[in-house]
Amino acid sequence: KERTLAIVKPDGVSGNYTSSIRKIILESGFSIQREFTVHLDEDGVRRFYAEHSTKSFFPSLTKYMTSGPVLIMILQKVNAVADWRALIGPTDARKAKMTHPNSIRAMCGEDLERNCVHGSDSVESAAREISFFFKEAFPE
Ligand code: ATP
Repeated sequence: KERTLAIVKPDGVSGNYTSSIRKIILESGFSIQREFTVHLDEDGVRRFYAEHSTKSFFPSLTKYMTSGPVLIMILQKVNAVADWRALIGPTDARKAKMTHPNSIRAMCGEDLERNCVHGSDSVESAAREISFFFKEAFPE
């Protein structure tokens, strides 16, 4: 089975979407292998989103991602990376509401930045992101 990293972002947690999101995850055949809540600091966001650190939206992204606690989860199932990306919908939640009305971002996101959830974009990113948040070694 494959693993991916999911994050319920600050707007998802503060909007009380955590239990609906967890329900969708389980009903879609994923198991939640590990989870914890953390309030990221600026340095954590910079290291997690290293590939975006030179983009113009980065200061705003940092402010958003440090605005409250986030829920970090390792999801497991066959084809977990692509299936979780499909379930969350397009990055721009405004677009998601029009083209993917049943997606998680359509349900709880607002726009291109405040899109309430994260999903690893490849198996390689998933491995990097999982080891970023989970230091201890544990079996796949
Ligand atoms: P994520 O990595 O969070 O799953 P994604 O892969 O769909 O999202 P990325 O392009 O990796 O999108 O961007 C990471 C995050 O940065 C987005 O989820 C969003 O919160 C924010 N973001 C991306 N592009 C923009 C933008 N142009 N303006 C503002 N915020 C943005």
